[in-house]
Amino acid sequence: MANDPTGTEWIKKLAGMPQKNEAGRQDMEDHRELSIFPGLSRRDFLKSCGTLAALIGLSGPLAAPRVAQAFEEVAMRPRVIWSLFQECLGCSVNLLQSRKPTPAQLILQQISLDYHEAVMAPAGDEAEQSFQDTLATDDFFYIVEGAVATEIPEAITIHGRTAADIVLEAYQRANATIAIGSCACYGNIQAAAPNPTGAKGVADYLRQDAGLSDVTVINSPRCPGNAEDTIAILAYVLVHNELPELDSFGRPLFLFDETVHDNCERRGHFDNGRFVERFGDEASEKRWCLYKVGCKGPVTHAPCPKTKWNGEISWPVEAGPCIGCSEPDFWDKLTPFYDKESGIRLPGDITPTQIGVTLGAATAIGIGAHAVGQVAKGRFGRGGPVAGKEETEE
Ligand code: SF4
Ligand code: SF4
Repeated sequence: MANDPTGTEWIKKLAGMPQKNEAGRQDMEDHRELSIFPGLSRRDFLKSCGTLAALIGLSGPLAAPRVAQAFEEVAMRPRVIWSLFQECLGCSVNLLQSRKPTPAQLILQQISLDYHEAVMAPAGDEAEQSFQDTLATDDFFYIVEGAVATEIPEAITIHGRTAADIVLEAYQRANATIAIGSCACYGNIQAAAPNPTGAKGVADYLRQDAGLSDVTVINSPRCPGNAEDTIAILAYVLVHNELPELDSFGRPLFLFDETVHDNCERRGHFDNGRFVERFGDEASEKRWCLYKVGCKGPVTHAPCPKTKWNGEISWPVEAGPCIGCSEPDFWDKLTPFYDKESGIRLPGDITPTQIGVTLGAATAIGIGAHAVGQVAKGRFGRGGPVAGKEETEE
């Protein structure tokens, strides 16, 4: 500038445009690739942290930054051993192929995955050495995917040792053990009758067969185990610095305290007695309640309606009935999948149709949807009132 040989005025002019520059700086900051999560912008990272914060029960403007801070302040990546036993690998696949910014990104950058039979680089003796080296530190988290064979322990043998022996040793040396997916939690399809291998969930095996008392295993069921659950459990531990409170089936209460039915998008139809009678009927097209064609949502504790699946694109009840995959022994207790769940007990002689009418009327006179949900939730109760199979309707 001719009248400003030192450039002072020019600098002052620039300084006089703080908003524009602040916005630009903020924008650059938002899109800056995070050093701790390569490929992930800060904006996307904070968005993920906001979702996680809601899942683990934090709210308010500081919730997402609090989760973000917990991730960023982890001084040393915790070591993880991830065992695969009687399983189909679906839980690992769900984790590794999840949405962007991926929980897998969050997890794999935050942990040192020292041993995972499907995705680790070493094989054979080298893989076993990784397992032994991590075990020897006595400072690792143990994740199990798949059931443990107890009647025919050799059914799952890795490097000459049975799954039963591996679990027992790793559990006793781990900081905490997490069972991912319904197989590791309760045996799942491997444990369905007649269960020739004696497949069991990790906690049941440790208590019933290995004879341990005071067993604590964080069960993260669903089939497959949901990636959001896994990362939410990790976030919970990082943020709160303690293990989450568990229900009587070992599931974190912050994720599994409500039923699918409590948060179902078709719930209004249930409450008003509008049911699909058979697949393909007019009510199906209207997306009415699927209770009469087998939906197990009222007895199934899972956050599916909240987290959804496949990058929040959909979830099972958008296509068909819930089959109850997060409940223990669902293959035996909740089948046939497309038959009405006759074990659902409703108070008195009130049928689902009648309760729909009753609650619909209550809604009309001013009881909010949340209160309606709580009424029904109290009636159904935890763990699923599946004792007995007597028909209560019609
Ligand atoms: S819980 Fe389901 S997806 Fe996961 S290993 Fe078992 S069968 Fe496969
Ligand atoms: S019975 Fe199933 S489809 Fe109907 S409201 Fe409950 S969870 Fe949704």
